Amino acid sequence: MPLCKLPTLTRYLIEQRRRFPDASGDFNALILDLSIACKAVAREVAAGALSDAQEAGSTNVHGEEQKPLDLVSNEMLIRQTEWSGQLAGIASEEMEEPYQIPGSHQRGKYLLVTDPLDGSSNIDVNVSVGTIFSILRAPDDVIESGRDVTAEDFLQPGTSQVAAGYAIYGPATMLVLTVGNGVVGCTLDDNVGEFKVTHPEMQVPEDTKEFAINTSNSRFWEPPVKRYVDECLLGKTGPRGKDFNMRWIASLVAEAHRILMRGGVFMYPRDVKHPKMPGRLRLLYEANPIGLIIEQAGGRASTGRQPVLGVEPGELHQRIGFVFGSKNEVERIERYHREPVEGDMPAQLFAERTLFRA
Ligand code: MN
Ligand code: MN
Repeated sequence: MPLCKLPTLTRYLIEQRRRFPDASGDFNALILDLSIACKAVAREVAAGALSDAQEAGSTNVHGEEQKPLDLVSNEMLIRQTEWSGQLAGIASEEMEEPYQIPGSHQRGKYLLVTDPLDGSSNIDVNVSVGTIFSILRAPDDVIESGRDVTAEDFLQPGTSQVAAGYAIYGPATMLVLTVGNGVVGCTLDDNVGEFKVTHPEMQVPEDTKEFAINTSNSRFWEPPVKRYVDECLLGKTGPRGKDFNMRWIASLVAEAHRILMRGGVFMYPRDVKHPKMPGRLRLLYEANPIGLIIEQAGGRASTGRQPVLGVEPGELHQRIGFVFGSKNEVERIERYHREPVEGDMPAQLFAERTLFRA
């Protein structure tokens, strides 16, 4: 069977490590522990209604109803990574405060940031969900002193990520990973219980005819977003001169995976529905890891106004506007945000904006 010739995730990591002769191997151990946690979550998710995690949940720190599987996945990630001495602390979408590595375990030099079960509102309808993770280096004084971690220790821009990845639990379970040298996609081979490298160099095509946005929010969009979508909808007859398709899964991991496989653009922009909220998705748990993966695959990740990876986080559970995918489309959306809005200059210069004129 030709699949046997495919390298495993373990082999990929060992080969990556050879780029850094001084590396201790701690980092690889951490990624492998994470991959084991993802296999465990995959099993629990695949059990569907047969899973033990069935009782109605409480609400999480964002006021969303917490499906029990969110908590089960969170537990699995913590239990599989806390013991090995690689981590100094863990921040999770499901926990208000950072998790402290218990005194009974050795503390290490990395911070784990995770959305343990992304898209969990899709669990009941049997649509793909996933686990997102990001690895940061702990600040020097944390590594030296072994002190408890604080929320501030995690407030690092996306460019500081040492690695980022996600597991997607769909018809196949896959692990998609970047350790800062491109993006690799692995498929879980259930026969041997190992992730095999099936997609060695994932690349986001620069152009696309697909966009994904929750159009039920359209009356709250800012003018640049409205302009972009209006132009897509006009298709061949509009300024874009080509027809577009729309997709919306409401599962960030599934949207990111589709875009990695065949291109596209995803938008969950800042809008005026909740004027105090600068967006919907979480900067640290969602936008930064997905953003790093997309950029490492040649795509672009933005808030609409600036590269998302450059944003200095202000708080652990911070939300942000998030636009990512095929480079040329994301750059176009950023350009629309920079161009002066109608009224600043003679209107005839903005003829293509008539679409959203009141
Ligand atoms: Mn999520
Ligand atoms: Mn979640």
